[in-house]
Amino acid sequence: MEEVVIKAPAKINLCLDIKGLREDGYHEVDMIMQSIALYDRLHLQKSGDGIKISTNSDRVPTGRENLAYKAAELILDEAGLHNGVNIHIEKNIPVAAGLAGGSTDAAAVLKGINQLYGLNFSYNRLVSMARKLGSDVPFCLQGGTARATGRGDYLTQLDDLQKTYLVVVTPPVALSTAYIYSQYDKNPFSGSIPVTRFVNLISNNKKITWEEGWYNVLEPVSIKETFDIKEIKSLLEDRGVRLSLMSGSGPSVFAIVDSWDKGCEIKESWPRRGDFVHPTWTLKKEF
Ligand code: ATP
Repeated sequence: MEEVVIKAPAKINLCLDIKGLREDGYHEVDMIMQSIALYDRLHLQKSGDGIKISTNSDRVPTGRENLAYKAAELILDEAGLHNGVNIHIEKNIPVAAGLAGGSTDAAAVLKGINQLYGLNFSYNRLVSMARKLGSDVPFCLQGGTARATGRGDYLTQLDDLQKTYLVVVTPPVALSTAYIYSQYDKNPFSGSIPVTRFVNLISNNKKITWEEGWYNVLEPVSIKETFDIKEIKSLLEDRGVRLSLMSGSGPSVFAIVDSWDKGCEIKESWPRRGDFVHPTWTLKKEF
């Protein structure tokens, strides 16, 4: 096989709680992650000449700072291969938006190089590489619906949900995950999110049933950084959605909608120029 093309889906956080700071400097989190049909597309080709990244986005680095580069370096090294790879990242997922764009590209590179070079690394072996690359990378490898604890890399897979339509809105501002967490530390949330109850709720219903209490403890922090989030939430609520929530450290906001058409209607009538409005749906797990 000389070329592999692989889809890398974005994720949203259906809820996000922070339990405290760990000794290793990471935050202890408790959250429900969901992969969605919003994809980067990665084209991987064998090369004898190191690792090269190209992309259609001017917001993504093409050197070692790219998480896809690090993933390629790691898996080639673990395989003891001195060959290289050319990676073209067709970027569709907004960057620094709370949708795990970098992490999903890294996960796709692990899967892609495993196929391209016929390495036959097991899923568990790929997960242990994913852990070294970043907290969200293990989830991005498997997708679907999962509870993530620890620093976000300890996963409990949940049953796939029925296909649920969503709309994701990203304002044209980037938020740094590290910065938002550092701001959170100055004024941590004093309550606690009933994540176990939500896990039971969606496991029993096989769908996301909104009721009181779904929450992302980083949302108020990110709202202080950019007023766009509040405005987007209020525009979504004006359009009849029951609840909208920020994903990850933001600034993307998602809402459940009744149908694909409703998502498209929201996109077509969206008044804020410059926002990325994406009707989408929940995905099932890949492994
Ligand atoms: P997370 O929610 O996982 O913290 P995010 O979705 O908010 O991340 P990303 O899109 O992953 O944010 O981008 C975070 C930073 O990572 C950006 O500033 C970008 O320069 C850098 N980066 C490195 N590799 C990539 C990549 N393949 N795609 C996007 N950004 C990348």
